Amino acid sequence: MIKVCKFGGTSMADGTTLMRVRDIVDADPARRYIVVSAPGKRFGGDGKITDLLYDTARDVKRTGHVGAAFDKVCSRFRSIVHALGLDLNVEELLMRTAEEIEREKSEDFTASRGEYLAALVTADFLGAAFVDARDVVKFDKEGKLDAERTYSLIRESLKGKRRAVIPGFYGSLPDGTIKTFSRGGSDISGAIVARAVLADLYENWTDVSGFLACDPHIVPSPEGIRALSYRELRELSYMGANVLHSESIFPVREADIPILIKNTFRPGDEGTVILPVSKYRFGGNVVTGIAGKKNFTVLLLEKSLMNTEIGFTYKVLAVFMEHGINFEHIPSGIDTMSFIIDSEELKDGMTEILEREIRAAVNPDSLRFFDDVALIAVVGHGMARSVGTSARLFDAIANIGVNVRMIDQGSSELNIIVGVDNCNYERTVRAVYEEFFKKKE
Ligand code: ASP
Repeated sequence: MIKVCKFGGTSMADGTTLMRVRDIVDADPARRYIVVSAPGKRFGGDGKITDLLYDTARDVKRTGHVGAAFDKVCSRFRSIVHALGLDLNVEELLMRTAEEIEREKSEDFTASRGEYLAALVTADFLGAAFVDARDVVKFDKEGKLDAERTYSLIRESLKGKRRAVIPGFYGSLPDGTIKTFSRGGSDISGAIVARAVLADLYENWTDVSGFLACDPHIVPSPEGIRALSYRELRELSYMGANVLHSESIFPVREADIPILIKNTFRPGDEGTVILPVSKYRFGGNVVTGIAGKKNFTVLLLEKSLMNTEIGFTYKVLAVFMEHGINFEHIPSGIDTMSFIIDSEELKDGMTEILEREIRAAVNPDSLRFFDDVALIAVVGHGMARSVGTSARLFDAIANIGVNVRMIDQGSSELNIIVGVDNCNYERTVRAVYEEFFKKKE
């Protein structure tokens, strides 16, 4: 039995949390490969090491030298090494790191040093081998993960090691320079290691006891979700439930490896298990979870006989593509089509550009933008089995007098997405939660 454990920033925050990490790892001999994040916040308002390193990269760009932000990084690592009573020559390590940061002058390199140092310290503390992600996690020259090569390098380097610690968040390009994943990417690194060694389980240790059925800032103490399928997870995390990086499922999904989200600070809590659909057992709930995000813009196009005009969508999409604009959904009617776009994409005059070019491309009867739309995703495999789910959903929303601006149902019946005005977002989420979690038959 092999388990890969990834510990997030709060688990790595200081000496005390690292002692918890050791207790967790020691409690189970199957926990052999450990992937770590950089130290995160110790308390509200505290700095995250990765943020301080991005500040450091800016300092180096401006002045050529590391500055006050890097001093903070150093004092955090010093205090961790001190609290754990390690023999490690931390001063030399930090000095060498500062020199390398100033020499490399790369934002990715600088940002990656949080995970690098954290993994060295953790390996020393656990008496485990250190395997540098630079040597085993490989990207191609386009910056895409070279998965097969990475898996075989990881397998190779872990061969014969009873326990090893690997830094998360980064790997290297063909020329050897460091490249990071997007923020929160240590979750992806953990999944890659789990996939490489064909682990029986990928444990992701964080500071919450798994996924909740909805955002606790909106509904106080919502129910926990015991089990999720990969597909449900993908829908929920894409729509803002951010316990786990939304891309981290891909490597483990290929190999049917379950992910278990656990709480370092409450290790006795059950957590949430994420399973392939084949192993997923219907838990009885029609809806598994609710997630959402604010600040979308709807572009509504109308044109008589749009349905008969060959290439209409294609021409509109060509304009989107030309400007690198991403859209989330395209709900459509016979003579209408709307595009739901993250409002961030439309900054700096992009609305006017799109309007002009789309008018020129398809000559619509009308073209309008609506801002301040929030999307709410209601997710669950159970919805496909229960007749009347959407009626319950829309009744619940109608009963609080909220107007639904758009509806999109995935063809797998795994999710229904509704758009409401931003100002109605929270109360709509509350009403939907009430309907599906409080009024269980
Ligand atoms: N330390 C990185 C970040 O803060 C990556 C991670 O923790 O997953 O984004």
